[in-house]
Amino acid sequence: MPYCVNCGVELDRTQSACPLCDAPVLHPTCPVDTESPAPYPQAVSLPKSSRKKYLAFVLTGVLAITSGVCLVINALAADSGLWSLFVLFSCALFWLLGILPLVLWRSSPYLYVLVDVVSISLYIYSFSVTLDSRGWFMEIMLPMLGMLLVMALAMTAWLRRKRREWPDICMFVVVSAALSSLAVDLLLHLAVDGAPGLGFSFVSVTCGAALVVFFGFISRNRRFRAWLTRKFHV
Ligand SMILES: [Zn+2]
Repeated sequence: MPYCVNCGVELDRTQSACPLCDAPVLHPTCPVDTESPAPYPQAVSLPKSSRKKYLAFVLTGVLAITSGVCLVINALAADSGLWSLFVLFSCALFWLLGILPLVLWRSSPYLYVLVDVVSISLYIYSFSVTLDSRGWFMEIMLPMLGMLLVMALAMTAWLRRKRREWPDICMFVVVSAALSSLAVDLLLHLAVDGAPGLGFSFVSVTCGAALVVFFGFISRNRRFRAWLTRKFHV
């Protein structure tokens, strides 16, 4: 068994350099075995949970550097307006929606949904403050965001109760979208006309009803789903 001439560590016959101090292995009578497999993996492979944290760390750095540079440039050229705040808010929103779930989604999905909706609300509110028109936020956006929170929490609870089939998930999403459009339509009529009324939601609710029938048919009809599976290899 060869030993490193520099640090004395025991070496495998397949190693051409010491794994500790990187000293090259030179043995005139015993050449390096290049045929046998190496005794341990050459590349470091992180477990999945660590990879996610690693990715979250790198992306957080990217967003922090981007926001920081923009804030400094904006501070140096103060007469160009407060545009860097939009970059900061957008980076913060992207972090909350895209990076936080990498570490939070599995452990606390309800908290994640709550954080998401609150961050979207704050993001939109920041625009309404900057544009100095807070009426539409309170009258239209806030009730919509409240509804979004209730629907997202309901869907999370529904998905966690048991494993759902994809046609059922599609039905849930379609019903939520149709109800949302109905609520938006009502809120817009209330805000603009001062009285409840319905307009475009008639179309979306009718489309939603037709789609529920379609997905319901796929969900109930096992033979049709088996045919779909064979046809598309899914
Ligand atoms: Zn060594």
